[in-house]
Amino acid sequence: SVPLFLHLVIYRSTSSTTLPSFLLVGPSGAGKTALLTLFERGQHVETRTSQVPISVEVSLPVSTNAASLKYRSVNDPSNQVHKKFLLADTPGHGKLRHYAFDGVIKPQNLKGIIFMVDAADISMGNSGSGNEALRQAAEYLHDILLLLQKRSTSSKTSKAPKELPILIAANKLDLFTALPAPLVRTALESEISNVRSSKTKGLLDSGIGMNDLDIGEEKEWLGDGGDGKFEFSQMDEVNVAVSVAGGNVLGADGQDVKQWWDWIASNL
Ligand code: GDP
Repeated sequence: SVPLFLHLVIYRSTSSTTLPSFLLVGPSGAGKTALLTLFERGQHVETRTSQVPISVEVSLPVSTNAASLKYRSVNDPSNQVHKKFLLADTPGHGKLRHYAFDGVIKPQNLKGIIFMVDAADISMGNSGSGNEALRQAAEYLHDILLLLQKRSTSSKTSKAPKELPILIAANKLDLFTALPAPLVRTALESEISNVRSSKTKGLLDSGIGMNDLDIGEEKEWLGDGGDGKFEFSQMDEVNVAVSVAGGNVLGADGQDVKQWWDWIASNL
């Protein structure tokens, strides 16, 4: 598909360094631009052609309560400030993915990562391109999770790294061919298992011994490694809580992004 980051809508924020932020990543065509456009609707926007990450300033809907506001009075003026957050979009295109990784490595008040996938595209029943889309999504997610794991294992202190939650947003559930969220979870887990075992095998084939692969604490494989099944719960150990929630940014019957708002709110 056409790289959709070529026509992004942006908002230039003056306070971008202080607001809590979420990173939005995922394969091209997942619906990231659509989500950004939806989230910022009604605010000052500006269009331009760009191949660099874009941040938009988003206000939490009044009906959603941020976790950090739970104990504050409704009249507290700081409520207004803290309800805002930045959503940083990253091009899904392979060559531009280092931007996404930069965001993971150098977080600026980073509260979480949203990995968006097209749940209709990765569906097994989607003959032809279906499995290829699943494989690409799984590879991208695998690399991000491995990076987050390394963030933990390469940390200088013995302290566990700060918790960094990741939401897998299964988008386009308005389409009847879309996989429901629980199946998106299992499809990604099993495809990540394949990615992981082929990576481990590749490293072993290159002459590196099993023990060399586990140098110190910095493991080259995700989670428990090996040929076993990968499960998102294996990321708990490195303080990365993975959630999967479905929704749709567009659709004949309107959008449904409530679960994603709730996840953002509970991590804000
Ligand atoms: P990006 O590459 O991740 O930024 O993806 P876009 O936001 O450009 O979306 C890719 C395509 O999917 C566009 O044609 C959107 O209109 C469409 N799209 C995005 N979200 C949804 C959705 O929830 N349902 C449906 N049916 N289409 C969607």
